[in-house]
Amino acid sequence: MSLLKLEEVTKKFGGLTAVKNFSTELAPRELCALIGPNGSGKTTIFNMITGIYVPTQGKISFNGKEITAKRPDIITGYGIARTFQNIRLFQGLNVVENVMLGQHLHLHSNPVEATLNLPGYVREEKRMRLEGMRLLESLGMAQLAHDEPSALPYGQQRKLEIARALATQPRLLLLDEPAAGMSPADSEELMIFIRHILQTFDLSIFLIEHQMRVVMGICPRIIVIDQGEQIAEGTPEEIQNNNRVIEAYLGVADYA
Ligand code: ADP
Ligand code: MG
Repeated sequence: MSLLKLEEVTKKFGGLTAVKNFSTELAPRELCALIGPNGSGKTTIFNMITGIYVPTQGKISFNGKEITAKRPDIITGYGIARTFQNIRLFQGLNVVENVMLGQHLHLHSNPVEATLNLPGYVREEKRMRLEGMRLLESLGMAQLAHDEPSALPYGQQRKLEIARALATQPRLLLLDEPAAGMSPADSEELMIFIRHILQTFDLSIFLIEHQMRVVMGICPRIIVIDQGEQIAEGTPEEIQNNNRVIEAYLGVADYA
């Protein structure tokens, strides 16, 4: 059974059709890329999967359960996590505390206890800190635990965002242009990081990315959209040799 299933999903903004009849499925533990020109509807697809936008038409299912138009927090609870095109880290909290924010979803003590600093909450905090440290360790980031996010190099900030998404224990991770603005060395490290995540955690990854070196380097399957519609799907080799893709996108793509 597929983990994620989109059936004929459409999103209109007034007169603009951002996504048109888009269908796809992701298998458990699969890594799949979603590429296409700017404004082609990639982020809108992620926003529909995560409940930020309600599809105009179509159906989205996760783990055999329909999630179309469910609230974002409910969808996170089902096991879908994401990162955003622009980095969203909390300054004033250190690295491990940023990761702990991701675990917040699984906090057992109630908010009243939390504000009163009752023993239950203190215990909970300790446990979360420990789990946060364990997660950072498994990602090779433990040495950064007490740093301020803003003090980290850009590539590490991107990895921290992914670590925080992983703290929600997702079955599906949506990454929106994680290599954007990265140096070739940083994107190389990111590729290794993404492969490591796939091997370490029981999850699937849906990856939006413009850096073709990253996409072609790690994704066995690639979906291409243009103006809201799927124009191709295949292996890196098939996509690189697809005339329609070259015309719409790869002719101007970023191979740096
Ligand atoms: P991509 O991520 O592929 O660059 P987007 O999904 O962000 O593209 O955008 C697809 C199209 O939908 C664009 O024309 C964009 O301007 C439009 N769009 C996205 N979100 C909104 C919104 N909230 N309101 C109106 N138009 C939007
Ligand atoms: Mg986008």
